[in-house]
Amino acid sequence: MPDKGFNPELDLFRKCYQYTEDLEAREGGYYLIFRPLESGQNPVVTLEGREMINLASNNYLGLTSHPRVVEAAKEALDRYGTGCSGSRWLNGNMLIHEELESLLAEFLGKEAAIVFSTGYQTNLGAISCLVGRNDVIFTDKLDHASIIDGARMSLGRLIRFRHNDMDHLEGLLKREQDKGKLIVVDGVFSMEGDLADLPGLVDLARRYQARIFLDDAHGLGVTGPGGRGTAAHFGLAEEVDLIMGTFSKSLACIGGFVAGDARPVSWIKHRSRSQMFSAALPPVLTATARAALETVIREPELVDRLWTNARKLKEGLIALGFDTGGSQTPIVPVILGNEPLMLATTINLAQAGVFVNPVRPPAVPQGREMLRLSLMANHTGEHIDQALAALGEAGRNLGIIS
Ligand code: PMP
Repeated sequence: MPDKGFNPELDLFRKCYQYTEDLEAREGGYYLIFRPLESGQNPVVTLEGREMINLASNNYLGLTSHPRVVEAAKEALDRYGTGCSGSRWLNGNMLIHEELESLLAEFLGKEAAIVFSTGYQTNLGAISCLVGRNDVIFTDKLDHASIIDGARMSLGRLIRFRHNDMDHLEGLLKREQDKGKLIVVDGVFSMEGDLADLPGLVDLARRYQARIFLDDAHGLGVTGPGGRGTAAHFGLAEEVDLIMGTFSKSLACIGGFVAGDARPVSWIKHRSRSQMFSAALPPVLTATARAALETVIREPELVDRLWTNARKLKEGLIALGFDTGGSQTPIVPVILGNEPLMLATTINLAQAGVFVNPVRPPAVPQGREMLRLSLMANHTGEHIDQALAALGEAGRNLGIIS
């Protein structure tokens, strides 16, 4: 550590100079994050010059390389240049943002939508401006980190309920009868790939006068009729007060939004700090998200293909003897339960030409270390067969399956 004459006890950089986890992992050959891909997010990716089957992407519908989507992005670049250079409150708002908002609202059967620059900022801004000092926010234990961060930024109190446990939630709601209440859940849980118990939540919300905010980042373009999401899957789009989503999964770029009744959306638009104090989503990304959404509407067979692939992979994994948890979607976990095994499996698969996401705490609870596999609409049956063969081999080598 460079000596600047600080009292080491008070130097908040001391921990940084003492932090060596990443160096040790690199040295040991198990640094499996921040891996620099040399290709796009396609069914086959290139890493260090080698082609690998990609079972790690959130590009569920494969739209990052869809000709219509790419063409729309190019056109927007030519027409508008690269950025908005300001908040939407001031100079950064564009007609194309508002057109995308109308399309999103219509797609989800809501009155209005408001677009943010990332999904993370959407949760941060929307949740924190809704939940006031006398309010309580109830979150599922497996909710995404951005929901928790949004809750922490709010003035209200955060209460977490056991994953999808409606009895537990009811007990907690009962104790807060005199408070404003917001229940926030992932529609599709991002690591386990299971669905929120929306019918149960809607029932509780009605009985205990709570509002529901659904983070459908992994449901949009995936679940429900034509990819209309988890609320539509349960026929509860009207009952869910706000539906949040991102463009970083099925919609092929980055950005986020919340859709709902016009007045709550207007409140979020005019009160969320991550909207106010951050620059607008660049037009090229706005055009990309719009073209991607138009493609979901025009080519619903992409959603069907994604599900066919997901079923094939999941059935194959179960036949091999892997634990795929409670997955109900194209997110398929392979539960391994400890970090050394998770790392060894990831390395083994990489050697066999399969790229997977190893997931450890804090993204999952301790003991739930897993590979988070995910499918794309444009994976071929052959890709999945090859990946299953590699998974079977790795699983047997490492004693995970027999
Ligand atoms: N919510 C969920 C459930 C997510 O999985 C993610 C991204 N991993 C986000 C919100 C944040 O979205 P973004 O990556 O677009 O910022």
